[in-house]
Amino acid sequence: MKALVKFAPGNGNMEIRDVPEPEPGPGQVKIVVEKTGICGSDLHIFHSDIAIPVRPPVVTGHEFAGTICAVGEAVTGWSVGDRVVCETAFSVCGICSACRAGYYNLCPERKTLGYWYNGAFAPFVVVPAARLHRLPAAISLEEAALTEPLACIAHAIFDLTTIAPADLVLLTGPGSVGLGALQMARAHGARVLVAGTRQDAGRLKAALVLGAERTVAVDEEPLQEVVREFSGGAGVDVVLECSGSGQAVDGCLQALRRRGQFTQIGLFGKPVSANLELICYREIRFTGSLGSRYSSWEKALALMASGAIKAGALISDIMPLRSWAAAFEKFESKQGLKLLLDPRQV
Ligand SMILES: [Zn+2]
Ligand SMILES: [Zn+2]
Repeated sequence: MKALVKFAPGNGNMEIRDVPEPEPGPGQVKIVVEKTGICGSDLHIFHSDIAIPVRPPVVTGHEFAGTICAVGEAVTGWSVGDRVVCETAFSVCGICSACRAGYYNLCPERKTLGYWYNGAFAPFVVVPAARLHRLPAAISLEEAALTEPLACIAHAIFDLTTIAPADLVLLTGPGSVGLGALQMARAHGARVLVAGTRQDAGRLKAALVLGAERTVAVDEEPLQEVVREFSGGAGVDVVLECSGSGQAVDGCLQALRRRGQFTQIGLFGKPVSANLELICYREIRFTGSLGSRYSSWEKALALMASGAIKAGALISDIMPLRSWAAAFEKFESKQGLKLLLDPRQV
């Protein structure tokens, strides 16, 4: 089969290659991949500037949905034809304190699908049955390709942030992650102000359609004035920082009320500086989030099935796998929202 392979460390070093079609071992299933999303971390794998371990040559891609086409030995509860999504934690140690507490997203031995094990930018992928989730009938396979990023957002918002109805939320970075987080904050009954830049005009429009009360392009309007007007001068209760831009952090800290919460969802990719003294003066609760765990996937799927999260609204493009380079370029230049690749078009 043809698959998108990171074949050596270093910038670039990715191409479509012929690789053997995988077969499921004990405890594994083989899946016909329907669509696979391009994640920010795929760009980092392309550029080789990511801290998560990568083992080339490896088939990339980890945000996918599909249908089981073969079941390995000792797998129970799963059958050919089941529509599924799969967590990316392909293997974890199972015995560290994080694993034992159910936070295997933080296992130091975690090896990830599409980084260490062959992933889903390919027509077939083999995964551990223990990491599967069944798709509710209301969710299409295309929408389901968004489950992984939505599960990461669910972890950040349900496990790590406390949002109450009518809370004021400032959300920065209106990409597919930000617009997913917007919908999840709305599902809590929050009122959301979404901040981006002039470049994000189309995305900010989409934010209004998806339930934002107000949007702001920070290079056109002063953020703090908008926050003052939005919050009646008190500041916001919660910040969800999804842009991964170091510059956003200072503005977000200033926008928070005393005893507010700051959850960092975007990865910076480098050290950043900010006036962290505000964390003391305002007793701000500052946390970051990484990946997802079992319950975050179940919550993301339940919210998609109920219609509270419209995953389809986050998909801007579906492109053939053979056009991966153009798709990566488009994503890197911040056009569109979530781009999906169709692995059967090579
Ligand atoms: Zn991802
Ligand atoms: Zn562990």
